[in-house]
Amino acid sequence: MATNEAGAMKPVAEEVVGLLQGLGVSETHWRAGTRAVHSPITGETVAHVAEASPAEADAAVERSVAAFEAWRTVPAPRRGELVRLLGEELRAHKTELGRLVTLEAGKILSEGLGEVQEMIDICDFAVGLSRQLYGLTIASERPGHRMMETWHPVGPVAIITAFNFPVAVWSWNAALALVCGNSVLWKPSEKTPLTALAVQALFERAVRAFGAAPEGLSQLLIGGAEIGAALTDDARIPVVSATGSTRMGRIVGERVARRFGRSILELGGNNAAIVCPSADLDLALRGIAFAAMGTAGQRCTTLRRLIVHESVYDTLVPRLAKAYGSVGIGDPREVGTLIGPLIDKAAFEAMQTALDAARAAGGRVHGGERLQVGGHADAFYVRPALVELDEQIDIVKHETFAPILYVLRCTGLPEAIKLHNGVPQGLSSSIFTNDLREAETFLSAEGSDCGIANVNIGPSGAEIGGAFGGEKETGGGRESGSDAWKAYMRRATNTINYSRALPLAQGVSFDI
Ligand code: NAD
Repeated sequence: MATNEAGAMKPVAEEVVGLLQGLGVSETHWRAGTRAVHSPITGETVAHVAEASPAEADAAVERSVAAFEAWRTVPAPRRGELVRLLGEELRAHKTELGRLVTLEAGKILSEGLGEVQEMIDICDFAVGLSRQLYGLTIASERPGHRMMETWHPVGPVAIITAFNFPVAVWSWNAALALVCGNSVLWKPSEKTPLTALAVQALFERAVRAFGAAPEGLSQLLIGGAEIGAALTDDARIPVVSATGSTRMGRIVGERVARRFGRSILELGGNNAAIVCPSADLDLALRGIAFAAMGTAGQRCTTLRRLIVHESVYDTLVPRLAKAYGSVGIGDPREVGTLIGPLIDKAAFEAMQTALDAARAAGGRVHGGERLQVGGHADAFYVRPALVELDEQIDIVKHETFAPILYVLRCTGLPEAIKLHNGVPQGLSSSIFTNDLREAETFLSAEGSDCGIANVNIGPSGAEIGGAFGGEKETGGGRESGSDAWKAYMRRATNTINYSRALPLAQGVSFDI
């Protein structure tokens, strides 16, 4: 599929068209629309997608409300069956969808496939969950009474997603929302609508196999921030799950709160790792390399700050600089490439601006320069940058969505934790140590202030079984595993009186 008869790599646009057709996406969606879609591999335009108008978005919300009203009455394990069928479609089309992720978002093929695997995993999780939407029973203080909690579907859930995980983030939300009895509306990133169209086509196949799902149960609304804003402001949508920059989350969070809606915010990270004197440095080197350079630094959990104890600094950092100098950068479809392109020119410029600021503050910058790959003037490949700094200057406290790793020296764990927590974001974190006291301190209440804290692995590459999300300017939302499903349901507390008397709580008397 990837090569032509002569064994050469197929042109990107040709491959995109072949994959869209193979995945069953109708040409009306991507042939002659108004929004151009680019592949970061070459920078070329590969499709023109049709965008939803405000009237179409409004009608979609109306359909979503009707779909919710029907879906909420379907027993949850039966709802799970639809998600099981979606997982089957994803399994059957993993190779094609994973490759389309690579072509549209620029991540290497193994990460494109990994993203689809993550979708399959959350479908499996949600199928099990569909038989486990448990509420508590609670002891009542009144004789002949019983209390319990019931979890009900909540309504249409809007899902706004970022370009860097163009499909997995939808599935974390949608698989849970659907088994919880909700309808969903998806506004994907304007940079990655093609993979969203492909997922929608697979969802519709699952619906056909399922047989009797309400129309409009999961809808796709392609467009820019204005469509996201319309969903954000719509009182018919009780839950808005938004993944993206802190800038976006600040707007969405405030607007949803104004109408007393609920938001699940998954925003920017500024993740750090601490390397202690007892660390296994070979293991740390590999963990740091994947977390900092993988996905060309375009993960919310990318390692952006490395805090190294002074006793191991001069052993670790030169080895790391060597890895930065030799890592394979290029077309993400090619075997041996570990780092693909940045998403676009704006990402490249933001990276250079941050590096200039670091240099101006005395930072020693290794790498960071633009590389020409295949002579494509509109594709932006860079060598990842390692920046040695004497202190945590302002630019380090910002998330620059590019492969820059700032390296700081520390004298001990208290100083390391202070530096670690001294940024506005709080997504993911890790410590490399073989000292039990250090590891446990890092995981304790006085340690990492992040939603994710790891020992002897980097901060990126989460599994779906745990709740995913972060604190502070990362937004506080939790998605995916554990009890994250509760955010997609409403809780009712029920008190049932099975006696013939009517005692009041707290001994209150009210005899008429
Ligand atoms: P972005 O904020 O530019 O866009 C994200 C989404 O929000 C897009 O669909 C966009 O159209 C929409 N949007 C933008 N402004 C909006 C508005 N005013 N109202 C409603 N919707 C609006 O982010 P991006 O560049 O696509 O992605 C990179 C960012 O996403 C990084 O900051 C990264 O850390 C973050 N991210 C976070 C997580 C997480 O789980 N915490 C996961 C992936 C990415």
